[in-house]
Order: sequence, then structure tokens, then C-alpha cells
Amino acid sequence: MKRIVICIAACLVAMTGCGQKKKSRKDILHAPDQLLVQTPLNLAGISPSERDDAKFNRCIAGNGNPEALAGCNLPYLELQETTREEQVAQVMSHTLISHDWQTERFRSFLLQTRPELVSMLSCVKGIAISTDIRPSFYYPPSGAIYLDARYFAANEEEAKTVSTRPDAREENYDQINLLFFSVDTAMPETIEDARRLDLEGLLAHELAHACDFKAAALTGQYLSAALPEAPHNAVYYLAQWLFFGDANAKDQLATYTPAEIGRSYEESPIVDIYGYGNQFEHLAMIVQNHLAFEFDGNNRVDLLTDNPKENENLRDFPIHWGMTGKFCQPQLFEEGRAITARTVPMPFAFQKTIADCTSIVHEAGTAVHQVLGLPESR
Ligand SMILES: [Zn+2]
Repeated sequence: MKRIVICIAACLVAMTGCGQKKKSRKDILHAPDQLLVQTPLNLAGISPSERDDAKFNRCIAGNGNPEALAGCNLPYLELQETTREEQVAQVMSHTLISHDWQTERFRSFLLQTRPELVSMLSCVKGIAISTDIRPSFYYPPSGAIYLDARYFAANEEEAKTVSTRPDAREENYDQINLLFFSVDTAMPETIEDARRLDLEGLLAHELAHACDFKAAALTGQYLSAALPEAPHNAVYYLAQWLFFGDANAKDQLATYTPAEIGRSYEESPIVDIYGYGNQFEHLAMIVQNHLAFEFDGNNRVDLLTDNPKENENLRDFPIHWGMTGKFCQPQLFEEGRAITARTVPMPFAFQKTIADCTSIVHEAGTAVHQVLGLPESR
């Protein structure tokens, strides 16, 4: 209980430390540029025998034009059921990097992460890590994931090589009067732990896309096709503006009050604001949330407040609406868990129960009341 209060207080302090708003770190599903990666990349591991490495590099990091990739026909990274060390060597032989330090960071992460996450790597054809990728993305025509190297940087020297260019969509956040943000309830004990949680979340999300598209390539049916469609309500317009810059959605959004936006979020079957983007993002957010809950007992608090300008302190602004653990609602929880189990290639023996989920929701809800002074009825 106390732990969650401290955590939420710490998160709020951290995000308001320098008048900074908490910005979205969501991915995109398609590459924005002609070139998938601007920086020349090198193989992180040992090349598999008889592979044409130049072709592999071109098909993963080269031209972003789907037609240019049509002749690639690279195989999926089918992981053998051997030791973790051998699996990691296999992954590294399909990983391209922009800087040498990324090899050891990725390798050591893979050696200690959960087997379910490792099994999801069998859904990609390659992995690219580069200091100029922002935001991270999965690109269906290449079947590869493209990861922002800042998730891997562990010291100042490494961080210095990473691009400082902001995610282009941050401008969308600044152009509206409301700020929708989420606070994690899991409290990492160390900086290394915090980096691991971030990287697990990123990989769970991008690999969920990869497994969704691999299922469609093999069966003609996306896993995400089974999910409900997002209703075109107030929070839908908010998401379409924030993540896609849809000006019409921004106009629509202006006709709703914060309470109406919050209520539409509570009432719909979509578990995360990013899930309103499209069916693919909805699946990726379900899987990301369920794995973070199962692996680290994480839940989320979603909040809606006024949008601070530069040098204004978020703590001075009223919280218009808040909600804990959307994905814990009984029906959403069961459905989300079922589709997560279908997305993860290896059999998934879930250890946590919905009662665990609900108890975090209860504690986080009470903590939010205490820290932010939300009305008791919420
Ligand atoms: Zn995504």
C-alpha cells in the first residue's frame, strides 16, 4: 500500500521536476522515411552459414518501399528449443546495430528476460537498433522491428551517441488544452530495473505487432481481427489527434468536456488510449499491459489534466478525471489474457490472478486519492 503511494508520488514529482510534461513514447506501425534506417548498420552477432549478409542488411535496413522489399523473402527467426545462450546467439545473428555498445546491452537483456518474451522473437525476420530511430516501429513489409537505441543506453557515453531529435508527434500534444497521461504502479528499485521494465514494454509491444502480422501471413487472419472496433467517441478523437495528427479529430475533440472524454474512455472496450489508434495498436497494448502485469505486477493509472506550458508545474493543475487499471475489468481481463496467450508463441502459464489485478487497482486508486486529492467517489 505504502509502496504504491510512494511510487505514484515519486512518478508525479519526476514528471514535474523541471516543468516537464510526461510525453508519449508510443511507436508507429509504418516507417515514415524512404530509408528504414539512415545510419549504416552492422551485424551484432555471427552470420549464419550460407546467408547473404549484404541482402539481409538491405532487406532489414534498406529501402522502406514495399516493392523494393518484395524480392527479399527472408525467413522468420525460428528459435530452436535449445539453451538460452544458443537462442540469444541466434537472435544476435539477426540483429543489426548502429554502435558496438548496443550488442552487449541487448545480449545481457535477452539472457535474463522472460522466456515468453524471447519466444516472441520468432515472429520477426530481423531486428534493427539504431541511435537515429525515433519512435520505434514494426514495419510489415520487412517483417522487422526497429528499436530506438535510447532504451539500451546505460551510461552517459552511450547516451551521447543517441539522437536528441524529439518524436515528431510531440507537437500534437502541445496544441491542445488537455493532457492525458499514465502512471505505472510498479516501482523499479534501481535504474537498471527501470531500464529493463521500459525495454520489456517496448519489446512486448513491437513483438506483438510482429506476431499479429506473422499470423496473418501464415493463416490469412490477423489475431487483432478478433478485437472489438474502437467506438468513434471523445477519446477516439483525442487519440486520432495525438497519434496521427488528424485535424478533423482535433476539431471534434473541442466539443467535449474533460469529464466526457474520461467517461467515454471508461465505457469502451478499448484498454489503452493508444489502442484507439487501430486494431493493431489495440492488440499490442493489450499484450504489453498483460505482460507487464504478469512479469512485474504493473498496473496503470490514467489521468486527465490541463496541459501545462513550459516551466509550469503539473502539480498545480487540476486532475479532471482519473482511472486505475482499465484492463483489470473482469471481461476485458479475461479476453485480454486469452488474446495475449494466442499472441505469445510458447504456452503461457499465467501465475497472477484477476484478484491480484484488482487489489493493485484498489491500492493505486486509494493512492491517487491521497496524492492528488481526487474526489472520494472516484
Ligand atoms: Zn504499435
